[in-house]
Amino acid sequence: MLFFCVFKLNKYLYFIIMNTLLTVGSVAFDQIETPYGKTDKILGGAGTFSSLAASNFKITNNLVSVVGYDFPTQYLDILKNHNIDISGVEIKKDEKTFFWSGKYHQNMNQRDTLITELNSLGTFVPKIPENFKTPDVLMLGNLTPVIQRQVIEQLKQRPKIIAMDTMNFWMNSMLDELLTTISMVDVLIINDEETRQLSGEYFLPVAAKKILKMGPKFVIVKKGEHGALIFSEKQVFSAPALPLDIVFDPTGAGDTFAGGFTGYLAFTNDYSFENMKNAVIIGSALASFTVEKFGTEKIQNLSKIELLNRIDKFKNLTNFCLPEEIF
Ligand code: AMP
Repeated sequence: MLFFCVFKLNKYLYFIIMNTLLTVGSVAFDQIETPYGKTDKILGGAGTFSSLAASNFKITNNLVSVVGYDFPTQYLDILKNHNIDISGVEIKKDEKTFFWSGKYHQNMNQRDTLITELNSLGTFVPKIPENFKTPDVLMLGNLTPVIQRQVIEQLKQRPKIIAMDTMNFWMNSMLDELLTTISMVDVLIINDEETRQLSGEYFLPVAAKKILKMGPKFVIVKKGEHGALIFSEKQVFSAPALPLDIVFDPTGAGDTFAGGFTGYLAFTNDYSFENMKNAVIIGSALASFTVEKFGTEKIQNLSKIELLNRIDKFKNLTNFCLPEEIF
């Protein structure tokens, strides 16, 4: 009886106490070309995808970023309408918004960056608003490791979980800074090639073990259409990727994954390895929507039913039952 009450209480605590997620990442204009078409300048940025994904959960969803004078109010309204608190998104009156343009080849795993105009992001010094300084979960999007550290240093207390994304560019240009920042976080979210580069090891379990020694308690390795792995010192879990008939535009899939992962962790307030498995599946399910349309189009207009059905598909992908006696 007591167990039942505690269980029920826990369940309802999710809905009574709103845990806080702070995401710091780019809010951008993206222009994307894939074999299926080309966009004009559309809403993009790692912080955008991540916060939109996290908005599927009843949490306090705070975003810190920077845009320029040319950033349309209706794009900010999209974020606000998803209950994202954008009071930490600075609008620089004398600079333009960060602009990124990329082109995918027939093999959608290969992407060329055509243009990166840093604009307002180039001089970005994150200023965390006072009421954002005690998050339960912190998601550091792919920014310079120095900026990522400046965010951690401004917080009043250490979040229960700090997750960070990074990329090979920082490994090539600022390895020492990157290693210092990595040593301060709990979860490192990177792709398979970056895992190999950072560790100097080819085989992912060996590579992940080496990275765990750098500080994080968990390493998540994203493998694109082959799913994702989460490693802790003693455990590993493999999440599949949903085999999709068409990948329309992979931009932001990794950021969506990170937002779904951190949003779910903040919502449940459970940072065990067991719960991280759920978080990885939810991140993967959300990312599988992002790639179905250009930019944020799909993730912006996602219903709960669609998401639940997609999570069921993930369950069914690996659900099997062996008869008791086969040997
Ligand atoms: P992904 O597909 O996960 O690599 O993320 C793509 C998103 O990252 C796009 O929406 C871009 O606007 C954003 N992005 C690309 N380059 C950078 C950068 N150097 N710093 C911050 N955000 C970036």
